[in-house]
Amino acid sequence: MIPYSRQSVDESDILAVTEVLRSSHLTQGKKVEAYEEAVCKYIGCKYACTFNSATSALLAAYTIAGVAKDDEIITSPISFVATSNMFVTLEAVPVWADVKLDGNIDERFIERLITSKTKAIVPIDFAGKPVEIKKIKEIAQKHNLVLIEDASHAFGSTIDGKKVGTYADMTIFSTHAIKPFTTGEGGIVVTDNSRYIQKLRLFRSHGVQKRENWNSDMLMMGYNFRLSEFAAALGYSQLNRLDDFLKKRAEIAEYYDERFKNNKLFATQKIESYQHSSRHLYPIILRPELHCSKEDIFKQLQERGIGVQVHYKPIYQNSFYKERFGEFSLHVSSDFYRSELSIPCHQEMSLDDAKYVADNVLDTINRYAYRGCSF
Ligand SMILES: *Cc1c(COP(=O)(O)O)cnc(C)c1O
Repeated sequence: MIPYSRQSVDESDILAVTEVLRSSHLTQGKKVEAYEEAVCKYIGCKYACTFNSATSALLAAYTIAGVAKDDEIITSPISFVATSNMFVTLEAVPVWADVKLDGNIDERFIERLITSKTKAIVPIDFAGKPVEIKKIKEIAQKHNLVLIEDASHAFGSTIDGKKVGTYADMTIFSTHAIKPFTTGEGGIVVTDNSRYIQKLRLFRSHGVQKRENWNSDMLMMGYNFRLSEFAAALGYSQLNRLDDFLKKRAEIAEYYDERFKNNKLFATQKIESYQHSSRHLYPIILRPELHCSKEDIFKQLQERGIGVQVHYKPIYQNSFYKERFGEFSLHVSSDFYRSELSIPCHQEMSLDDAKYVADNVLDTINRYAYRGCSF
């Protein structure tokens, strides 16, 4: 099976991790700091605070931004549930804006959703394609809202040559095993704001600040959301390899783009000339006449050893959200869920693998082309 995404771990990564395992510090040593510095250097931001997952990183960012009970957060439903879960945990209310055909929040809908209760805007860079962050930032600034970007898919993506992570007030990345690079489990918040970074670090570690000798002081509520030293060493080592990963993903994606150009049965995600995508996912968007064949296409491709997946069921369609906030639907988002299939695209694939995937995607979808949805 060729999975839709997977990690790449080589001897240099293993050596970096085992070196830490043989050392005196498995946690709270110097590796986390070195890794955070490397992240800042790569992104071009002032500060980075690592976490044990992007989920805890999101909770930290929302909390530090002051998100609290009954605040409204404008976000997109086409994301992993954690994006909304972590502000619902703080008793804030999701206000979902519809997406565009590329799966990213439609920035034209944001302003009309703003009320006196709106606290933050949380866009997601779907599949690694950057959202229109400059336009969204203008809206956030005009209305005095915090802009928190869930860039879990988009480490290494750029807009106008600048990395995702240099635009929003806080940007979150995931380093889960199958994200652009990995620490096994892990997350990062990057920011240029010195007040935020101090609080993020406190939040990550019990809210406790060390003073002299034995003295320490708990200044705010905090947790243990720290990354271990060996995870940080893996992250540091992976970061050295990231540009190779991104190049490989771009190669595969560009090969698909060429094979699928002008296809009449499905569309692909268009990356604009001013953008670069990490290509965390390669989504294809089936035409409406294929919606009712999607399950068959999915199964066929799985049977042929192609690990397709669907990203994502709109968050509002999950039972928890229906029970909590009632039935809700957005036209493009619901349609996107009916249309989307993610096909394999990662750094462990060869171009031969990509050819096999493209041949079989085209063949399978063509088989269902004329069945229609009226049977
Ligand atoms: C993976 C992911 C998360 C959660 O990341 P973890 O590191 O697994 O906690 C959050 N948001 C999005 C968009 C993701 O893809």
